[in-house]
Amino acid sequence: KVYVLRIGHRPVRDHRVTTHVGLVARAFGADGIFLERHVEESIIKSLEKVVETWGGPFEIVKTVNPRHTVREWKRNGGIVVHLTMYGENISDELLNLILFQNKDILVVVGGEKVPSWLYYESDYNIAIGNQPHSEVAALAIFLDRLFKGKELTREFHDAKLVVIPQKRGKKVVKKE
Ligand code: SAM
Repeated sequence: KVYVLRIGHRPVRDHRVTTHVGLVARAFGADGIFLERHVEESIIKSLEKVVETWGGPFEIVKTVNPRHTVREWKRNGGIVVHLTMYGENISDELLNLILFQNKDILVVVGGEKVPSWLYYESDYNIAIGNQPHSEVAALAIFLDRLFKGKELTREFHDAKLVVIPQKRGKKVVKKE
């Protein structure tokens, strides 16, 4: 399984970005996301609503202590990948090294400030290019590389609505 941990959320200011981290995590194939306990209920509610409408499975978990979440993940035999512009630039070799281990993966993305322990407690510090950009973009590219694009055609379960792709216009059908 693959989970995302979003740390460094600033209430109000990061409302939209954290929501987008959650949306991208789900849409790009992660099985769930850990959010800090101070993340607004409205963000959790809107992500839950997306799962209810467009399907899952996708779990939203609140964490009291992200460091414990990271340690717990490792204790349970999982790998922790921290996405950071200061890390090793993503490559097929690095991805194969991770995939070869066949372990659960926790992908950690930060916000404005990242605590220094994260660089040392993560198994891999991986850059999506060594230039500053965004947690939303970094997460999307990493997951897409990890799943080799297959996540984009994955079927979601228990969806109430499904898009029927159109050259023009919008078509959405209700599922029973
Ligand atoms: N100033 C922060 C720091 O100390 O690294 C980074 C701020 S950046 C807006 C927020 C998050 O986006 C980072 O914590 C990282 O997860 C992600 N990010 C930004 N650029 C990245 C890159 N080139 N590669 C991987 N992740 C990146």
